[in-house]
Amino acid sequence: MFPPEMNRADSSARVAAGESWDVVIIGGGATGSYAALDAASRGYRTLVVERGDFASGTSSRSTKLIHGGVRYLRQGRPGLVRASLRERTLLLQNAPDYVHERTFVVPVFSGWEKLYYGIGLKVYDLLASGHQPTPSRLLSKAEAAAALPTLRTDRLTGGVRYSDGQFDDTALVLALLRAATEHGAAVLNYTAVVALRKEAGRVCGVELRDEETGATHAVTARVVINATGVFSDEVRRLDEPGAATTIAPSQGAHVVLPREFLPGDTALMIPKTSDGRLLFVIPWQGRVLVGTTDTAVDKIARAPVPLAEEIDFLLEHAALYLTRAPTRADVLSAFAGLRPLVRASRGKTSALSRDHVIRVAPSGLVTIAGGKWTTARKMAEAVINRAAEVGALPRRVCRTESHALPAPELFAGNGDNLTAADVVACARTSMARTVEDVLSRRTLALYRDARGAGELAPLVAATLAAAHGRGEAWQAEQLAVFRALVRQHLP
Ligand SMILES: Cc1cc2nc3c(=O)[nH]c(=O)nc-3n(C[C@H](O)[C@H](O)[C@H](O)COP(=O)(O)OP(=O)(O)OC[C@H]3O[C@@H](n4cnc5c(N)ncnc54)[C@H](O)[C@@H]3O)c2cc1C
Repeated sequence: MFPPEMNRADSSARVAAGESWDVVIIGGGATGSYAALDAASRGYRTLVVERGDFASGTSSRSTKLIHGGVRYLRQGRPGLVRASLRERTLLLQNAPDYVHERTFVVPVFSGWEKLYYGIGLKVYDLLASGHQPTPSRLLSKAEAAAALPTLRTDRLTGGVRYSDGQFDDTALVLALLRAATEHGAAVLNYTAVVALRKEAGRVCGVELRDEETGATHAVTARVVINATGVFSDEVRRLDEPGAATTIAPSQGAHVVLPREFLPGDTALMIPKTSDGRLLFVIPWQGRVLVGTTDTAVDKIARAPVPLAEEIDFLLEHAALYLTRAPTRADVLSAFAGLRPLVRASRGKTSALSRDHVIRVAPSGLVTIAGGKWTTARKMAEAVINRAAEVGALPRRVCRTESHALPAPELFAGNGDNLTAADVVACARTSMARTVEDVLSRRTLALYRDARGAGELAPLVAATLAAAHGRGEAWQAEQLAVFRALVRQHLP
């Protein structure tokens, strides 16, 4: 039997018919999607609404690693690393179509560095409790150079090899939502929560606005979950207008380079940048992904753009390690995302938690923020447990630890040979509504090669217009928006 497709019209019809819900989830990123699968698979009547496209927030802008986080080890946080590695094991089991092993090499320039990183990565192996896909190993200079053929070897003395998980972030969101749909959830993109409904001071539902038609609907829910990442304070203020700021956004940028900068299957891990961070240079989608940065920002943009200095930082650091220095002219695409870091305690901006935080307001609004992609399943389990208490739902156990995710959709998932039939498939099976949805999040064309994606835009606009009954003006507007987006993805 074929699983039911995600269908916007069906979900809209259920909302318009006044269906009431156990759980309404605001936000269709990693957190909201895993929460939707968790709630729906426990048998709760679940609705998830996303004001843009699914995964259009932080969740499509990650470094694409399912990892324990080597840097948390350096920060002396083995508990966080162990918990994340456990989630990595579960994702490799439950989502093998979306998550796979990737081997990394840390280049070393002295015997002391080799010892330091060698021991550190052995501890990383041990924290995986017997589930490390490939154990770490010390490499000679020749072995390191063979694994990374474009690595500069002038001062190199050897390397340390370890392995971690790499994944397709957007495809995983779509798979989670499709799995939730199979359990009866309704999922809507381009649908914003514009107000919370209350009865006697308790949240009892939401007001939705269809961002395409402007139509509004009142929806009833036993419990409402705010899973809006960096926007979670905005939604909390629909509940309590004076609510204090809890999110301190930090921007991370990436550049995508041609494959020749790092041929082979092994990724390069740069253990210490000039600002004391880790940097990854990773084979990805037949290209090379370099990231990321950590830039505190004041403004929470819906579509953040890499800063010129972030791109320079990435290129300069890659140049220190690679035989050929990449320049701005080599950049195929550049993109940025905002980390939803949660202030650990009020007023202290320095104490930012990398863990997730769940807050229940006096009104019963349940907010979850922070954490990382790797831990989204665990976060979802915790927030649905809490939401079930708040909404007085029947207690049911979480089922996601062993919940396999459906296979990817049949459309190419490959921007290079995109056909009109692929575009129709994106629209029909995963609710792609705009040119950007198809060329960025369904096919990754915009991320693989922004200029090339621009050339595909007219075909996509014409095909979507036919599929959704849109006119010429819509197509012209879509093309203008996408042209601007292409410019933003080029340095
Ligand atoms: C640069 C960078 C690199 C990263 N790399 C990794 C990595 O390699 N591995 C890893 O594990 N983690 C990584 N992370 C962290 C990870 O990406 C995030 O923790 C995760 O994606 C957050 O997901 P989320 O669902 O909470 O937020 P989001 O993905 O931002 O989802 C929230 C959604 O809510 C929607 N929304 C907001 N307001 C409303 C409203 N009123 N109505 C309806 N919808 C609304 C938004 O449109 C948005 O889509 C990275 C983060 C960044 C920034």
